[in-house]
Amino acid sequence: MKRRHFVGGLAAAAGIAACGGQSDGSDTSAAGSAQRFDWSMVTSWPPGLPGLGAGATRFAERITRASGGRLNVRVYAAGELVPAFEVFDAVSRGTVEMGHGAAYYHKGKVDAAQFFTSIPFGLNAQEMNGWLYYGGGLELWRELYDPFSLVPFPAGNTGVQMGGWFNREINSPEDLKGLKMRIPGLGGEVLRRAGGTPVTLPGSEIFTSLQTGVIDATEWVGPYNDVAFGLPKAARYYYYPGWQEPGPTLEAIVNKDAWNALPDDLKAIVEIAAQSVNSDMLAEFVHGNTTALMQLKDDPNVEVRAFPADVVELLEGYAEEVIAELVAADPAAAKIHASYAAYRDAAREWQRVSEEAYLGSRG
Ligand code: CA
Repeated sequence: MKRRHFVGGLAAAAGIAACGGQSDGSDTSAAGSAQRFDWSMVTSWPPGLPGLGAGATRFAERITRASGGRLNVRVYAAGELVPAFEVFDAVSRGTVEMGHGAAYYHKGKVDAAQFFTSIPFGLNAQEMNGWLYYGGGLELWRELYDPFSLVPFPAGNTGVQMGGWFNREINSPEDLKGLKMRIPGLGGEVLRRAGGTPVTLPGSEIFTSLQTGVIDATEWVGPYNDVAFGLPKAARYYYYPGWQEPGPTLEAIVNKDAWNALPDDLKAIVEIAAQSVNSDMLAEFVHGNTTALMQLKDDPNVEVRAFPADVVELLEGYAEEVIAELVAADPAAAKIHASYAAYRDAAREWQRVSEEAYLGSRG
């Protein structure tokens, strides 16, 4: 893998990611600088996955390099030490010091964590960063994970995803009825209410299931990852936008005891590396998606299409229902949602007169 230059300009900005983890005061000075730490980082990503897995690897490399090897982080792909969906438990127990994955994988364990990745019709990548770093989101995230002895950090974002690959046209809400689609989480529940059948499949089975007609559609990430996955060979219609995941944040989690054992300078290096990979991954996705979409536009077997307005409107209505039920069932979700929803309402006004207006005006 290509080493990227260290994004030093982010160092100053990273200071605002004030950490919930409290130092125990035992070793916070340069006097502890001789002490070495060997950490393992387990991830939810298959080996060599572009974007997500590459981001986790760069994160570990940056910590190791910036610390001169005093904090040496070794990365493990999903299944090497623990399975993809057991990262949270392994770091919480202290089996390993660190993990990289996505907070919405902890649905069922910590339902409210879904707000810290993405929810249907929620915040986009820019807004997630604004909310997390400056709008109180990160404090709420740290409070939610504290009982699990975890300190979370935003550590990557895919940007807005695509709606997915479909083997049938979606011309009206009627076309969602009976649609078998791989779409996890809250988005899947929204599809169910619209008459579809959400299916959960591991990444390894998506291509064959779509190609053989076991499913009619799938969402995955965006052109960059979807082309690498071969999905244009399995379906014709590529719909946008990705209403189900408008700007998912990836997470790094550190075991609280491991965090508290670090001297302040190594804590700063972890914070700065996390913030650098948070912005760097988004840059990689913008670039990778731009390049891959051009390739798809030239592919005679692929049609890139917008979902009809009445379909999007219907899905948004069901999304409000699904989120209202989550909030009603879980006080932690209610507290986080109050902050998230207020931020989204305010951000909408700014986006209308800035990004939305600007992109609409550009030829
Ligand atoms: Ca997705």
